[in-house]
Amino acid sequence: MSYSEEIIVSKQAVPTFAVVILAIIFGFGLFLVGYDQGHLFSIIQGAEAFDDLFIHELTHDMRHAAGFPCH
Ligand SMILES: [Zn+2]
Repeated sequence: MSYSEEIIVSKQAVPTFAVVILAIIFGFGLFLVGYDQGHLFSIIQGAEAFDDLFIHELTHDMRHAAGFPCH
């Protein structure tokens, strides 16, 4: 009676490029949720964006839940 066993070991390193892209996306998301006070929309909309605060209002509850200072 013969007994054979096969063990497959696959090693896959996480690509550094993917880590960098995800870190950039994370940083951008963190800025949007935690710190944006109209800065992003002011690029297109101008100073009026700082009064409208569209992204701030959109992420307001998430901002409070995450513990960022707001008001
Ligand atoms: Zn608030």
